[in-house]
Amino acid sequence: DATKISNFLRQVIESDLERGTYANRRWAGSPGDAAHQAAGTPDPAKIRTRFPPEPNGYLHIGHAKSICINFGLARDYEGVCHLRFDDTNPEKEDAEYVSSIKDSVQWLGFDWNNGRETNLYQASDYFDFMYRAAEYLIEAGHAYVDEQTIEQIRINRGDFSKPGVNSPFRARTPAENLQIFREMRAGQHEDGSMVLRAKIDMASPNINMRDPAIYRIRRATHHNTGDAWCIYPMYTYAHPIEDALEQITHSFCTLEFEDQRPFYDWLLQRLIEGGLLSAPPPRQYEFARLNLTYVITSKRKLAQLVYDHKVNGWDDPRMPTIVGLRRRGYTPASLQLFAERIGVTKSDSWIDYATLEGCLREDLELKAHRGMAVLDPVKLVLTNWDAEFGAGHLEPCTQPALPNVPEGTEPPPARHFSMGKEVWIERTDYEEVPPKGYKRLFPGNKVRLKGGYVIECTGANKDADGKVTEVLATVIPGTKSGTSGADSVKAKAAITWVGVADGVQAEVRMYDRLFLDAQPDAGGKDFIESLNPDSLKVVIAIVEPSLAQAQPDDKFQFERHGYFVADRVDHVQGTKPVFNLAVGLKDSWGK
Ligand code: ATP
Ligand code: MG
Ligand code: MG
Repeated sequence: DATKISNFLRQVIESDLERGTYANRRWAGSPGDAAHQAAGTPDPAKIRTRFPPEPNGYLHIGHAKSICINFGLARDYEGVCHLRFDDTNPEKEDAEYVSSIKDSVQWLGFDWNNGRETNLYQASDYFDFMYRAAEYLIEAGHAYVDEQTIEQIRINRGDFSKPGVNSPFRARTPAENLQIFREMRAGQHEDGSMVLRAKIDMASPNINMRDPAIYRIRRATHHNTGDAWCIYPMYTYAHPIEDALEQITHSFCTLEFEDQRPFYDWLLQRLIEGGLLSAPPPRQYEFARLNLTYVITSKRKLAQLVYDHKVNGWDDPRMPTIVGLRRRGYTPASLQLFAERIGVTKSDSWIDYATLEGCLREDLELKAHRGMAVLDPVKLVLTNWDAEFGAGHLEPCTQPALPNVPEGTEPPPARHFSMGKEVWIERTDYEEVPPKGYKRLFPGNKVRLKGGYVIECTGANKDADGKVTEVLATVIPGTKSGTSGADSVKAKAAITWVGVADGVQAEVRMYDRLFLDAQPDAGGKDFIESLNPDSLKVVIAIVEPSLAQAQPDDKFQFERHGYFVADRVDHVQGTKPVFNLAVGLKDSWGK
């Protein structure tokens, strides 16, 4: 399959499948400890991956890459991918985000239900196990309660230039530690007064191995476990355990977690030794996160745009959130194509925004129905129309909805509209004095109204300020598109238009990039300053009747203008058409 470009993650999986690294795993139908897993049967999934969002915001284009990688690889290698809410941080998380994340994953075309299993999990369901595992680490001498202040811990951890200094609490006995840890859990100590730390190596060149904190005291209500806990596991401790309990084989994450991998391996090794987890453990592999020019992919900064009303909500079509991209007119296929095309690498780089736009154009080119819309309308009057055809005559015209129908597929019904004495044309399609090379309307020039007749321009009426109010022309009978006389008169150009009689007013939202700077938040810059003041311009356009009949979310190519989507929130079929510019026909940024 040509779309499956080889990458190092595929190579890792293929080599594990070849060597049978995970061939003897058992699966008991749900996550669980070593005993639970031993009671299972051979795992029907060849590999298990997971997408583990923290439910603290809406997913963005970077997450789409991660979703496509994790769900895509599981699909390609007869595995399964778990959707797991990494909800170990109660202060920032909310059930609202849980449901929007589920929607986004499904909309992208992936499913955690595979008929056999429903692989939807939440890390907070493992709090009991995590607590048990912490008690085990204490008993085995691998963890201790530290009562230094956060500041002391930080200073004593040292840095790259020097080893750390042991905490005065490091030599406590397991019995002492166990007692204090149980007091922590029972709510007998203040928030922030002590932490549980893994006991590893204060001289390790990897700072993350210098006795990382694994539990903290935090009196916070959790959206799932309520007030059951006043101590919460740290992410670096929780994540490997979540992976292991779910029998994940390949744990893919972004490069910033590379330094955490030694702790990931250390922790799982200790818990396997203790009989709490079964071997072989999952392994972590890191890939480069997505950096996209003109785009911000930090949930915190995206939230600032929303709360400061720089955009109209999380699903504003200018937002790089999945809900925003969807409303902008992006399709699941275009985002999957994008994820394939940018590939998976081990070093950070910037992807050009035009790559994303190109994927949408490529997807819509063959699928989006065509239609004519006049975005900056001026009236064209055919002065001989009544004399030639009779007053009030409307000439029925037709055009295909799709010019190139893929072989073996039924073409969609043709579009119907009518031409009359008055039609709307683009203001830029008339020039009194044509610039060099201009082929459209100027006095004496012949032009075809696409799908209709050839006309000859005779001039224009203007208002007192010299602004054109009406373009004037004569129709040349016998030249209608699709009739035998169509080629009898040569026209220099064909222009798009909409009849005054059957055109429908529509609100069209012309979106541009949200930021002017290609790297709006690089190097600590204030990204707010780089906001593009012209990222949204609303125009009142006139569209042909077939476009007014669009359903919300339908995508179109407005001929000559670009790809547009009927807004999924504000568009009302027939009565209140609202379209969003999804992407132009060509990459025109900077021109
Ligand atoms: P943010 O930094 O925007 O808050 P996050 O990394 O904290 O994002 P999580 O909810 O923890 O968000 O992310 C879930 C998964 O998505 C993680 O495995 C993470 O590595 C991945 N991910 C997040 N951002 C990107 C990105 N820009 N490119 C690729 N993967 C990403
Ligand atoms: Mg995170
Ligand atoms: Mg992050």
